[in-house]
Amino acid sequence: MLVYHLPGTFETREAHLDLLWEAGATGLEERAGLIRAYFDARAELDDEIADGEWRDEADQDWQAHFKATLRPVRAGRVTIVPPWLLHEVEDGQVALIIEPGMAFGTGHHATTRMAVEALSALDLSGKRVMDVGTGSGVLAIAAALLGADHATGLDIDPLTIPIAIENAEINSVPLGRVFFAEGSLGLDDELEDVFDVLVANLYAELHDLLAGEYAAALNPGAPLILTGILTGKLDLVRAALDREGFGNVTVREDGEWVLVTATA
Ligand code: SAM
Repeated sequence: MLVYHLPGTFETREAHLDLLWEAGATGLEERAGLIRAYFDARAELDDEIADGEWRDEADQDWQAHFKATLRPVRAGRVTIVPPWLLHEVEDGQVALIIEPGMAFGTGHHATTRMAVEALSALDLSGKRVMDVGTGSGVLAIAAALLGADHATGLDIDPLTIPIAIENAEINSVPLGRVFFAEGSLGLDDELEDVFDVLVANLYAELHDLLAGEYAAALNPGAPLILTGILTGKLDLVRAALDREGFGNVTVREDGEWVLVTATA
């Protein structure tokens, strides 16, 4: 792996970061007072960034490489970024910081991006939002940052809950406005709340199974946002929504993935 070591930090060399990208860097990382710029091949560098050093490093630090290649993801009014790229969020965009880790939901998957876009198209102020299959907490946190009064994130995988809580803390969303718990709809006897918006990034067969629960968990006329659906499975979801009395169904595709919205 070819890495160009440039003395300084993202802050002190902010004006030079673009020169590295323009020279063909595939990723940038800041570590121990150095900017590490990853390249596939040696490149001609502008004089302003010529004070660094080329290093051919063993291909062992895949985690660092993966992190270095992450880019911010723009989804409607929200930009999802790892903590070290916060400075790249454009003015006017809502920054949603997600630490890439064990839970699904860094924003780099089309389904997460489409779901955040769909949330961002709604006026969430004063709304109570349910996020089924919360993973990293990305959708519940997006809802809170977009003005929702309260967002609940459920996941059957207990490992995701502390990760989602940590992501809420990184985004300074108080735990009074988001709540994360292990569980799912239909399983939690104590969860008898009704919501103003429900978002779920799961998969088509599960949406089919849970469609009745979605209807029971939503106020009349409230929006439902479903994704994680492969294009070939869209009819299954459409039939489930029809069966449970949802209306105003819209469909959006991105590659092999589909996002469906409807109203209760
Ligand atoms: N919401 C995040 C996003 O949009 O990026 C993560 C979505 S990830 C595709 C699906 C998540 O749903 C996983 O974290 C998984 O553990 C969880 N999950 C799977 N089946 C579930 C169920 N029946 N109820 C609740 N969560 C479930």
